[in-house]
Amino acid sequence: MGAISQLLFPSSCLLCNLPGLDICSECRIKIGRNHRNLFISDIPVWAGALYGDGLSELILLAKEKHIAPARNFLAELLVESFMRARNESEVRERVILVPVPSSKSANRTRGYRHAYLLARHMMKNLPPSQKGSVAIQEVLVVNRKVADQTNLNREQREANVQGAYSVTKNSDLAEQADLYLVDDLLTTGSSVREGIRALRQAGLRPAGVLTAGVSPRLFS
Ligand SMILES: [Zn+2]
Repeated sequence: MGAISQLLFPSSCLLCNLPGLDICSECRIKIGRNHRNLFISDIPVWAGALYGDGLSELILLAKEKHIAPARNFLAELLVESFMRARNESEVRERVILVPVPSSKSANRTRGYRHAYLLARHMMKNLPPSQKGSVAIQEVLVVNRKVADQTNLNREQREANVQGAYSVTKNSDLAEQADLYLVDDLLTTGSSVREGIRALRQAGLRPAGVLTAGVSPRLFS
């Protein structure tokens, strides 16, 4: 890119390098939207887009490279999922977003908590009418060593996270609000299933799950 176009277009598309927007309109169209819901452990899941090349790249950039515009795009998808949840279900006045936690070692290596930052970016992108009633609470924590899920199959993922999450002690606020689990991607659902189990064990009832992406295989 020449110096002049650098001045005119300070950023370029994270996916195709086209000067202009962080994610160009063509790449946005390719990512598209998912409008189907599914259930994990009887809890409804609203997911913004089907997992494919563009979305996988943006998840990687947000999760491992700390790229803010990528994270912001995932947050946009999450806000859309949240607004669909608001429209399609009976909701209480107050909502608490519960980030699905990463392992302690992943948080240490990255220097940030990925799902928590997604929830933070969601808050910034919420419509003004919703802002006052939504809060984030990190009530779920990882209580033991877990491996990175990326290269594990379905059964291995299930075993890897089973019983690995606990609810923190100061979760009294969570009882008076709708709890929504927040994550970047639903691949097999094992992390979210474990999150739901841990919340239920603590006497809490999650209202739904919000994810930016969902594996198309979960619909087949
Ligand atoms: Zn592009």
